[in-house]
Amino acid sequence: MLVIGAAVLLIASLCAPQAAASPDTARQHLLGVALAPGTAGLTPQLGVAYTLAYRDARAAGVPMYVNSGKRSRAEQASLWRQGIRDYGSAAEARRWVLPPDESTHVTGQAIDVGPRAGAAWLQANGVRWGLCRTFDNEWWHFELVAVPGTHCPRRVPDASRR
Ligand SMILES: [Zn+2]
Repeated sequence: MLVIGAAVLLIASLCAPQAAASPDTARQHLLGVALAPGTAGLTPQLGVAYTLAYRDARAAGVPMYVNSGKRSRAEQASLWRQGIRDYGSAAEARRWVLPPDESTHVTGQAIDVGPRAGAAWLQANGVRWGLCRTFDNEWWHFELVAVPGTHCPRRVPDASRR
């Protein structure tokens, strides 16, 4: 697994310049590898890591998709305003959604994965590529926060506690 992880990091670093955000209508490629759907605008490292995980999940018969990956600042600002309305205060909203300056979705460093079975598989196997669930209250939210093949850092209760 460490070999795979090193390859991921190598490929990602080699290809960073050409992996800038683009519409998700056509598959992006890195060194001829078709990235998984939903990866447009993510950092190359996250896009490659998720693509490799997605391929293994699919091969194992596990459904998986990205519900929400890269978000624009405007999209995140809209979600933030809606969160304040839904949860009644900024303090409570922060447990579920962050303003644009703080969201890792805006920087292309986070993915929300579905369905539940796919997220469960990724929680159990994602560290092979460095992918980890980061919040106790969001079973769907993953980030590239571990050295591939090692172990995930301890989760925090929610986004407000980061
Ligand atoms: Zn998320």
